[in-house]
Amino acid sequence: MEFLQPPTWREALETRAAHPDALPIWGGTDVMVEMNFARKRPEALLDLTRVDELSRWSAQDGWVRIGAGVSYTRVIAELGSELPGLAIASRTVGSPQIRNRGTIGGNLGSASPAGDALPPLFAGGAEVELASARGSRRVPVDDFVTGPKRTCLGADELITAVWMPRASGPQQFAKVGTRNAMVIAVCSFALDLGTGRTCIGSAGPRPLRAHDAEAFLAQQDSLSDDVAARFGELVAAAASPIDDVRGTAAYRRHALSVLARRTLTWAWKERG
Ligand SMILES: Cc1cc2nc3c(=O)[nH]c(=O)nc-3n(C[C@H](O)[C@H](O)[C@H](O)COP(=O)(O)OP(=O)(O)OC[C@H]3O[C@@H](n4cnc5c(N)ncnc54)[C@H](O)[C@@H]3O)c2cc1C
Repeated sequence: MEFLQPPTWREALETRAAHPDALPIWGGTDVMVEMNFARKRPEALLDLTRVDELSRWSAQDGWVRIGAGVSYTRVIAELGSELPGLAIASRTVGSPQIRNRGTIGGNLGSASPAGDALPPLFAGGAEVELASARGSRRVPVDDFVTGPKRTCLGADELITAVWMPRASGPQQFAKVGTRNAMVIAVCSFALDLGTGRTCIGSAGPRPLRAHDAEAFLAQQDSLSDDVAARFGELVAAAASPIDDVRGTAAYRRHALSVLARRTLTWAWKERG
């Protein structure tokens, strides 16, 4: 297997154009698992870890730009006040080793319905920056993920960064798993009171916004048990879960109603 390791972003884009079948890799925490199980046998790997700028983040004009190679550990340590929802979700990912290697760009690249970074990105109104030797473009994350493990990334494109509006209100994330750590979500839920958006994870073919729950929330000026319960019902109704080894569809709907109620209560209290 060929191992391509361009030292600069320009060379990475040129290499991508010349080798469209090469599989990009950063932390490898998804890629190496796929290769170990022989689910993927790429002719070449395109390792991006030498491209320094991919592992930087910056804040500008109310947005935070997170390079595709920024790890969960750094999101937790450095972005907790700008992007609390993403930081909370990052804390639930894998183990310290996985959080050190795994990246936000890799979670987007895999586009698993269970990817934990995705619900906060959807709820926060993130945009994904893509680049090729032809130029670059920004795509709303809702359009970037087109289906289970599918994205709109072109054959000659790479993920450069993800842009998130700086939090303008409380953000929350909660996840249910079959144990407390190192676990793929049975279901998860992100809420952003600043944008008024929500997102359900691991209970549909892709992350799902709960539009009716968002419209209901926009009409509320106080939080009662009834409001929280109704919000939970509307979130559960927006899910499209299946029965699988991690849980049944019915359990996922029930758990989502509980996660929605809880996250709304925490976020509302935080807003004061
Ligand atoms: C033990 C274990 C536990 C885990 N626990 C969790 C968990 O709790 N929650 C969770 O969400 N995930 C979990 N994962 C999955 C994984 O860690 C995450 O999806 C992580 O974000 C992947 O990042 P990475 O940098 O390792 O990606 P890689 O494996 O390097 O790449 C993943 C995908 O993205 C593509 N890609 C990477 N960078 C780019 C780029 N710049 N441009 C274009 N494509 C790119 C790759 O081609 C590949 O398709 C776990 C994995 C393991 C092995």
